[in-house]
This record gives sequence, structure tokens and C-alpha cells, in this order.
Amino acid sequence: MTETRKPKRAYVETYGCQMNISDGELMQGVLADGGYTIVTSPEEADVVLINTCAIREHAETRVLGRVSQLNGLKRERPEMVIGVTGCMAQRMGEKLLEDAPYVDLVMGPDGYRGLADTLSQLETRRAAPAARAGKRGPQLAVLDLSLGENYQGMEQRRGDQPTAWIPIQRGCDHRCTFCIVPYVRGPEKNRSALEVLGEVRGLAASGVTEVTLLGQTVNSYMWDDWTFPRLLSEVARVDGIRRVRFTSPHPNDVSPELVEVMALEPSVCEQLHLPAQSGNNRTLKRMSRRYTVESLLEKVDLVRTAVPDIALSTDIIVAFPGETDTEFRDTLDLMRTVRFDDAFTYKYSPRDGTPATRLPQEQFIDSDVAQARLAELIEVSRGIQGEINAAEVGRLEDVLIERAGRHPGQVLGRTRRNKVVVFDGDVARIGRYARVVLESTSGATFAGSEVEVPAMSGSA
Ligand code: SF4
Repeated sequence: MTETRKPKRAYVETYGCQMNISDGELMQGVLADGGYTIVTSPEEADVVLINTCAIREHAETRVLGRVSQLNGLKRERPEMVIGVTGCMAQRMGEKLLEDAPYVDLVMGPDGYRGLADTLSQLETRRAAPAARAGKRGPQLAVLDLSLGENYQGMEQRRGDQPTAWIPIQRGCDHRCTFCIVPYVRGPEKNRSALEVLGEVRGLAASGVTEVTLLGQTVNSYMWDDWTFPRLLSEVARVDGIRRVRFTSPHPNDVSPELVEVMALEPSVCEQLHLPAQSGNNRTLKRMSRRYTVESLLEKVDLVRTAVPDIALSTDIIVAFPGETDTEFRDTLDLMRTVRFDDAFTYKYSPRDGTPATRLPQEQFIDSDVAQARLAELIEVSRGIQGEINAAEVGRLEDVLIERAGRHPGQVLGRTRRNKVVVFDGDVARIGRYARVVLESTSGATFAGSEVEVPAMSGSA
């Protein structure tokens, strides 16, 4: 009698940015193709993969804590495989295997295509008599960054969310001096435009109406003679797609052509994330951002002239080594000048291997000063956000219902301008559009009421 092998069960837990979340879905796709059943908790899994972020020290510390917690499960089930994937795995490499000997696999982002094969290799090595006799199981590190790996043909295993994130580019050709991304994800690699369009068409056919194109500097995308504006406009014209967003653009590649597509294509949402990082030219230069405050403000004007109702968001880092108090105040001035709808704010976090860590030690800013600058920036940016949103109370908006709200009978969705709205509604309508009047704001999000008018950009 032949024994049927039970399918292996895999669990993927993701930390970090949207690109990482997308990579988590990609790994699930590779594992499902390799015969794994995807489960939703580590307790049920034979293979547990922790998909990590390396952008800040805090994120890494959190992951190390989580991995050590999983070791408790592994003590009960020694056959369980623990893998650490993603940017932190790439950054720490073999050192992670030494520091956490219960980790069986570290794998950087360019190893995902071979994930199922690598797990089989690990299984074979574990079954070898020498390994069975040893105290510490065999460990594998897959850390090559491959110029040829553009993730073509790899399918993400998406849930049934009404929106989809579509990676069109990975890696980055910039060398901002604070950033670890080019070292853990390699140079910029772009996916075929035809494959991206095929994916969008497939998603639209399955009922997805909103897509977000993803890349580290998404608007520098180039494939054959396809520029980003061309790809954006083609994606926006796919039947069934009602909303298109993209993130994160580099300010230097916010071109007149891109802005024209944003203005002309009805499906492209009135929203732009424009990572400024600092409002001081000396700091921008030392960060190697390759633009000035003046050129950034020109981009803001360009976009606001073409798309007057646009909502702008940004990223800001405070306390970059050497940042003086006056230079920090320039950043506050930039915030007050542009009046971003939203800001993601951070204290500088040194990442080994990045150029900024080699700046003279005396330039590194005391953590109390850094914390005070961050608190002041948050206060200013939240104040501006609150004023902008208070002025939007009363607007009638199309909202795509994304999920259940915190309270029973409530749903949560987003406007075209990416503002979050909570209102009374039935969860059965997740994925549908509603016409909602914004009635109040907490500062960052809105409460609203649905009105009986058909939604402009979708069926209610
Ligand atoms: S553009 Fe700069 S900050 Fe953005 S991913 Fe590339 S190196 Fe990092």
C-alpha cells in the first residue's frame, strides 16, 4: 500500500512596508505552487517564515524577539523549520544564524523564486545521518543579490481584498546616505510592462477595482520603451479598474508627463506621496537626495496646478547626523509651506553599512534632542492635518469599502484622496463603493454617513 504524504503546512508572517507585504504574498504563491498548504498561525505550521524589514533598528529588534518566541514552539516540535526572510535576513546574513541557532534558514529577497526547492534541500540535509546525530540542525543561507532576478512570472497569493498592490519594480539605484534598501534589495529591477498589465487585467476580471503600483522609486520605472507615465496610463485604462494609486515616487521623477497622466486619466486617484525627508538644503545634500527644497516646491506647484484637489503626503527624517536646530526648523517651515495632508515621521536610525554611519561620531544627535525634534514635528504635522481635514468636513466622497470597522455595524473605507472614513454599513458590501458625506474628523480619519446617491466611481 502506498503511503500518501501529508502536504506540508507553511505560515508567513510579514513585518514592514507594503513591498514586504507584497513579498509575503509572493512567498505564499511560491509555497502553494510547491505543494504547501498555507496556514494562518505558526502553531499549525511545519514551516514558519518571518518576513522582515531592516529599515530601522527598532523593527529588527522586534523581529529578533518574535523569532526567539517561536523557538518555544520549536522546542515542542523540533521538526519545525524557522526561516527569516527579507531585508533583515539579507542584512544580517550568517550572523543571524549564529546569533539565533534555532533559525534554520535565512533568505534575502532575491531567493524567493527558489524557496520551495531550498526548503526541500534543507529537509534532505536534516534527514542525513550526520545531521540527525548533531545537536544543531543544518542551516542554510540564501543571500545572493541577482541582477537578473526581476520576479517575472512569479504569482502572488492574494487574499480576497478589494484592492491589490502590484510590485512593478524592486531595488533602488539611488544611494541616499541613510538608507539600507540598495544594500539589501540591490539595484533597480523592473518587471515587464506586459506582465504587469496582464496581472491588472486578471485582477479586474476577478472583481478588484483598485490597484496600487509599487516600487522603491516607482516613477523611475522603465522597461523597454515603457516609461512610468505610459504604464500608469495603460493600467488606468484597464476595463473594470476604477482607481489607480502608486507609491513611492522619487520627487526627481515627478515629471510633467507623469503629472499630465495624473490629470487626464480619471482612474488615477488625486493622491501623491512625495517623500521630502528634510526641508533643509544642506541636510538634503548630505542625505544625497539630489534635489533642493526649491526644486521640491516646484514639483508641488506642478502637481497642484494640474490636479488642484490632490492630497499630498510625505516622509520626514529628523536628527540626521549633523542636523542643526536651525536646519530642523527649516523642515518645520517646509511642512507649513506645503501643508501635507499626511506625514510619516521618523528619527534617524543608523543602519550598518550605509554611508551616514561613517559620519564623524560627534555629529550623531543625542537621542533626547532627536526625540524632542520628532515630537515637535509630529505636533506640527498633526496640527496641519487636523486643519486640512476639518475643512473637508461636509464633502461628499466616493468611498471604496475595504473592511469592517472597529464597532459592529460599521465599515471602513478610503476616498480617492486616500482619506480613511468610518460609517454605518454592512460588511457584505466590502469591495463596493458608497457615496458618503464626511461629518466629522478625529484629525487623521473621518466619520461619515452614506447618502442615497449612486457612487460616481462604482456601484453602491
Ligand atoms: S530613493 Fe533613497 S530612500 Fe528611497 S529606497 Fe532608494 S536609497 Fe532608499
